[in-house]
Amino acid sequence: MAFSTPTLHPLRRLWRYARGYRGDVVLAVLFSILNKIFDLAPPVLIGMAVDVVVNREDSFLAGLGVVDVDAQLLALGVLTLVLWALESVFEYLYQVKWRNLAQNIQHELRIDAYDHVQHLELSYFEDRSIGDLIAVLNDDVNQLERFLDVGANDIIQIGTTVLVVGSMFVIMIPEAAWLALLPIPFIIFGSITFQKKLTQRYARVREEVGLIGAMLSNNLSGIAVIKSYTAEKIERNRLAAASDRYRQRNRDAITFSSAFIPLIRMIIVVGFITILVYGGKMALNGELAVGAYSVLVFMTQRLLWPLTRLGATLDLYQRAMASTRRIFDLLDTQPKIRDGHFPLPLEQVRGEIVFDHVHFEYPLKASSDRPVPPTIEDLSLHIPAGHTVALVGPTGAGKSTVVKLLLRFYDVQRGRILLDGIDIRALRVRDLRQAIGLVSQEVYLFHGTVRENIAFGRPGAGMDEIIQAARIAEAHDFIMALPQGYETVVGERGQKLSGGQRQRISLARAVLKDPPILVLDEATSSVDNETEAAIQRSLDVIARNRTTIIIAHRLSTVRNAHRIFVMDRGRIVEQGTHDELLVADGLYAALWQVQTGSRTPIQV
Ligand code: ATP
Repeated sequence: MAFSTPTLHPLRRLWRYARGYRGDVVLAVLFSILNKIFDLAPPVLIGMAVDVVVNREDSFLAGLGVVDVDAQLLALGVLTLVLWALESVFEYLYQVKWRNLAQNIQHELRIDAYDHVQHLELSYFEDRSIGDLIAVLNDDVNQLERFLDVGANDIIQIGTTVLVVGSMFVIMIPEAAWLALLPIPFIIFGSITFQKKLTQRYARVREEVGLIGAMLSNNLSGIAVIKSYTAEKIERNRLAAASDRYRQRNRDAITFSSAFIPLIRMIIVVGFITILVYGGKMALNGELAVGAYSVLVFMTQRLLWPLTRLGATLDLYQRAMASTRRIFDLLDTQPKIRDGHFPLPLEQVRGEIVFDHVHFEYPLKASSDRPVPPTIEDLSLHIPAGHTVALVGPTGAGKSTVVKLLLRFYDVQRGRILLDGIDIRALRVRDLRQAIGLVSQEVYLFHGTVRENIAFGRPGAGMDEIIQAARIAEAHDFIMALPQGYETVVGERGQKLSGGQRQRISLARAVLKDPPILVLDEATSSVDNETEAAIQRSLDVIARNRTTIIIAHRLSTVRNAHRIFVMDRGRIVEQGTHDELLVADGLYAALWQVQTGSRTPIQV
């Protein structure tokens, strides 16, 4: 969900976003107010009790028709019970409403933001740190949740208290009300200033927490290196130093924050004394009923204390708004890769690929002021449907970039790429990517079973299909030798498997997907000879009847390709079959001779 009004206050944007929950918000606000009103009743009840005892048949309750003193006390008891019960009921209701609202909104916002991020182009992720994105999707969403959980109710209840009690003062002792209300601005000003200073101190504490967190995660994931260098003691001391800084910063914050309540207490006492003395004199002079006097004394406390929380609540509010702004900014980010409208169902894809005078440069980093040569320059190539072609060339030539352009991870700046004669920008991105199976050097396995990791290629595939795919990828045998076979959990990023095993699972996944176009980007570069041979054998099976693009450094793996494109500095410099290219005696022949050991290395 995206909004086109980024200047709107975050609270208003949240209100728009939470369209479906507006009824709940209104009810939650109402319950908070009612709870506070009933919560303010006890001082009034005490005042009425004093009034009954002192004035007996002339009391306020007697004026309402309950003349007998015992009956008045009984009525007071019943009234107390009712008000107390109502307070409890509304306490329950507002808690349930606000807390569920917090849960619903955090859930929807997190999922919406994550889903939105998933659809942003690859360059978006390259320009940002993953840590920042996680902070928005996790911490910022949680911050808003905390505010809705407790902060929103706090603000409403503090407001209700000031309004109700303030009005009572003005009505009951118009001459002295201003005196009782006098401490309010000081308390508000004091607690906000205090909070600001405290926030700075806590920010420094959090900085240290972040550093400790980063250090811990870095060290624990690199524990093997630490052990092999026997660096445990050094690392322990480094952590101890960071932890000590954390303790120091916390000490600063503790000294400061502990002074807050005692200081505020001294401001509150001014209001309290005012009512005590001034109200007392009025009561003595008969200008104020004794019951009313006791109500006012109790009420002063009830009025002033909650204000002390205002600073913390406003801080929570400000943080939540800053977080909300960041979340909506993320939701506002428009994907640069625009979806096309032309449908190309999987069954209809033939797999013919054409690069037509393609020109591409990676987006310049804002900080870079040097002109960067284009990564792909005037590149044209034609891959007939069902052919197996290879892209070879020195490192950095732009081979992987060609694949990224085909998958529309980036859009070309000039020229066009056609799939079955259609410009891929006109196609629905989903259709395009479903037509391509990518096995890259960086294998992505998630924490799950071998079976689940293969089934990632086609969710819902049956066990027999998974096994069949694993057999083609020559993965079945080693999978069966694992402790729990297909149900073996591979560990985070597949770390419980070897590099070659991961690669074969990745290939099985692509086989299961059964795409009309298969791309192997350096799939055999970091595997042992056995795995390479296995992948080679699998390829002979898989490549049949589908367009296959192989990017490889080891030229032996591509010598059987229908056509080999040799790339250098973003251009195709030669093309032909293996034999043709050897005869041509160009870059390919030079690379081949280096790899087969028949010539000394050349600079490429
Ligand atoms: P290798 O054989 O080493 O994998 P390659 O031929 O696949 O190399 P590419 O990965 O396509 O080369 O990279 C081509 C050029 O583009 C390189 O100079 C590289 O530094 C640059 N490049 C690659 N990815 C990015 C990126 N995301 N942002 C900026 N520049 C990039």
